[in-house]
Amino acid sequence: MEIILLLAHSETDGSLGKAALESLAAARNLAASLAGSALVVGLVGGEIQSAANQTAGCGATRTIGVAGPDFASSRYSTDIVAAEAIARAAAATIVIAPATSRWNRVLAGAAQRLGGRIDTHVTDVTGADGQPGVTRWYYRQRMEAVVRRTRRPWFILLEPGCGQAWNGAQGQVPVELLAPAPTDANRRTTVAGIHAPSADKQTIRPDAKLLFVAGAGWTKAQPDGKAHPDEAEQLILDFLSKSKASLGSTKSLVDLSGEGQAVLKFMTHLNQIGQTGSTPRHPKGLSTCCHGEEPHTVGWRFINERRAVNLNPNCSWAQGKADVLYVADAFAVMRKVNALLAAQAG
Ligand SMILES: Cc1cc2nc3c(=O)[nH]c(=O)nc-3n(C[C@H](O)[C@H](O)[C@H](O)COP(=O)(O)OP(=O)(O)OC[C@H]3O[C@@H](n4cnc5c(N)ncnc54)[C@H](O)[C@@H]3O)c2cc1C
Repeated sequence: MEIILLLAHSETDGSLGKAALESLAAARNLAASLAGSALVVGLVGGEIQSAANQTAGCGATRTIGVAGPDFASSRYSTDIVAAEAIARAAAATIVIAPATSRWNRVLAGAAQRLGGRIDTHVTDVTGADGQPGVTRWYYRQRMEAVVRRTRRPWFILLEPGCGQAWNGAQGQVPVELLAPAPTDANRRTTVAGIHAPSADKQTIRPDAKLLFVAGAGWTKAQPDGKAHPDEAEQLILDFLSKSKASLGSTKSLVDLSGEGQAVLKFMTHLNQIGQTGSTPRHPKGLSTCCHGEEPHTVGWRFINERRAVNLNPNCSWAQGKADVLYVADAFAVMRKVNALLAAQAG
C-alpha cells in the first residue's frame, strides 16, 4: 500500500502557493488511481494553519506539520530537518512536492537521509495500471519518458505549471504538529532581507498568458542603414507594461552584450529561451526579430500557439515552426500594437 505524502511549504503570508496546489491535485489523483493507498498532507512554514485549511476536502487521512520561526524562511539545514521528520511521521512511500526553489535545494538531501530516491523536473504523475509512474522530458525536451521505481520512499519534484491546481472549499483542518529540534549549527544561516525587482521591472512572468520573445534583429541595422536600439527598448518595454507578457530572448541577443554591441539593457541570460535556455509554458507566444532556428525553438516546445514577426519570408518560422508568420517590420508592428493597446486602455 502506498502512502502518498504531499509535502508543501507555506508562502510568506501563510497560504499555499499555486505550485503547491498543483502538486496537491497530482497527489490526490495518484491516490485515487492506486487502490488501497492513502493521502497525507505535510506542511512546513512559519505559519501553516491557513495553508492546512486550504487543503480541507482533499481527502487526506492526516495533516502533519512543522511550524515556527525556524521554518519560516528557506534554509537547507532546517528545511531538511522538517522534511525528514514529516516523511518519517507519515511513513511516506511516495513524496510529491512542488519544484519551488526552496524544495529544489533540499529534497534530494532528504531522500538521501531516508534511504530513498528522487526524480526532479517531473511534469506529470500517473497511476496507470495501478502502478505509480512519473513523466519526464529528456534531451532538452525532445523525448518524453515514463519512469517507474520500486525503491521507497520515492521523492517527486513536480514542475509548476504542468497541471490544474487543487481548488476545493476551505475548512478547519486539525494539524498534527511535530517539533523537530534544529541545533544552533542548523540556524547559522539567517535571511537578512530580500532584494526583488518591482513588479514592472520583473520581466520573467511564468503565469503570463503571452510569451513575447525578442531576437537579435532588434539591434541590427534596419532598412535606413542604422540600428535603433533605443527605440527597440522603448517599444518592447511599452508593450510589456501594457500587456503584462513575459519576456524571452534568443541566445544571440543576450550574447551581444559580451561582444560590446548595443543591446537591450533589461535582457539577461535568464530571459534566454531554447536548448541552452529555458522551456517556459505559456498559452501563446509572439516572436519578433528572431530567426526561429531549431536550438531556439526547441525552447518553445510547450507554447501552444506560436506567432512570429520577421522581415524574411524564408526564416525558420516559415518552415513549420510557427502557426502564423507575419512578414513585416517588427518596429512598425509593435508601434501599431502599442497604439492599439493604449487606445483600448483609454
Ligand atoms: C549548441 C547550441 C545551443 C544553442 N542554444 C540556443 C538557445 O538556447 N537559445 C537560442 O535562442 N539560441 C541558441 N543557439 C543559437 C541559435 O542557433 C541561433 O543562433 C539564435 O537563436 C539566433 O538568434 P536570433 O534569431 O535572435 O538572431 P539572427 O539569427 O541574427 O536573426 C535575426 C532575425 O531578425 C530579423 N529581423 C531583423 N530586423 C527585423 C525587423 N525590423 N523586423 C522583423 N524582423 C527583423 C532578421 O530577418 C533575422 O531573421 C544555440 C546554438 C547552438 C549551436
